[in-house]
Amino acid sequence: AALALGLVACGGSGAGGGSGSSGNDSNPSDTTIGVAMPTQTSERWIADGNNVKKQLEDKGYKVDLQYANDDIPTQSQQIDQMITKGEKLLIVAAIDGTALSSQLQAAADAGIKVISYDRLIRDTPNVDFYVSFDNYKVGVAQATALLAGLGVTDKDGKATGTKGPFNIEVFAGSLDDNNAHFFFDGAMDTLKQYIDDGTLVIKSGQNQIEQVAILRWQQETAQKRMEDLLTQSYNDGTTVQGVLSPYDGLSRGIITALQNAGYGPTTSGGAKPMPIVTGQDAEIASVKLINDGVQSSTIFKDTRLLAEQAVTAAVAFLKGDEPEANDTKTYDNGQKVVPSFLLPVVTVYKDNIQKELIDSGYYTADEVAKGQ
Ligand code: BGC
Repeated sequence: AALALGLVACGGSGAGGGSGSSGNDSNPSDTTIGVAMPTQTSERWIADGNNVKKQLEDKGYKVDLQYANDDIPTQSQQIDQMITKGEKLLIVAAIDGTALSSQLQAAADAGIKVISYDRLIRDTPNVDFYVSFDNYKVGVAQATALLAGLGVTDKDGKATGTKGPFNIEVFAGSLDDNNAHFFFDGAMDTLKQYIDDGTLVIKSGQNQIEQVAILRWQQETAQKRMEDLLTQSYNDGTTVQGVLSPYDGLSRGIITALQNAGYGPTTSGGAKPMPIVTGQDAEIASVKLINDGVQSSTIFKDTRLLAEQAVTAAVAFLKGDEPEANDTKTYDNGQKVVPSFLLPVVTVYKDNIQKELIDSGYYTADEVAKGQ
């Protein structure tokens, strides 16, 4: 028996020792992988799509990459078609994390493995693996960048003794995106002690995720909410000194609202200094704003590495193996805990743009200077 087992294990490390059809499908050029991405309005998803496509094609696979314009029915339909076309595996970054149950049931019935990409797909047992960043830590890092920008803590989150009080406002992402909750929880857990002791004051009183969430992460919606906050809560001569923003697109909307209300660099005669504004994704337009001293920070998530993890997991499944997880307890999707591979994140301020974004080859110095 030992010998037989040894032989099986040997075969497994070669062409993929899985039983049944997966072993027969291991010829990459006969295998199309469906990649469903949410939107092209944010550059990160364009980079994600391109990176996943290129890395799979480099391994010889065919790729069907689709974007859904942030429209839920469009994404459902795209996934339906991927299944009908006989694609062998799906990599999905969902728009609404709870809207894909029937599609994924069809995928499971057809023996198609599903990798949830960056955003956890919820309320279905038919998600086989999750690749993402440590999303709670993203929120912690955003709050820490806000505190450090205000001088309440250092960049490692150690209190400096500065007591403020500072007026702040907080924003969250789209409620149907599981990540939005992780970002917000990580951030609010970090800010809590400073809100409780009066160092930070959310002057509008809006501190619940339902009150501060921005549907589909829309820049214009964030701009409008910031305008409303300024007229409703800061028309008495007070100013806002910090804004927790979970995504660079929202940050740019918030900054536009602030600039229109007279906030700006004090050196150019602006009476109201631009508040500390956080972000996420290191979008090039925002990296320029950080370099110019307008936005304070962003969270860099290297989409090249995320794509690599998705591709590694996909190849493992197609060979009949299980991908390697580094977290098997955090991401409960309501039906099961989905084995996950989570990547670390880096906070970028003006002083480490060079090291983190330029030296790493993510952007050129020229792109940072131009903001495109
Ligand atoms: C992603 C963020 C992104 C946001 C808006 C989230 O699910 O994790 O990186 O900023 O969606 O696109």
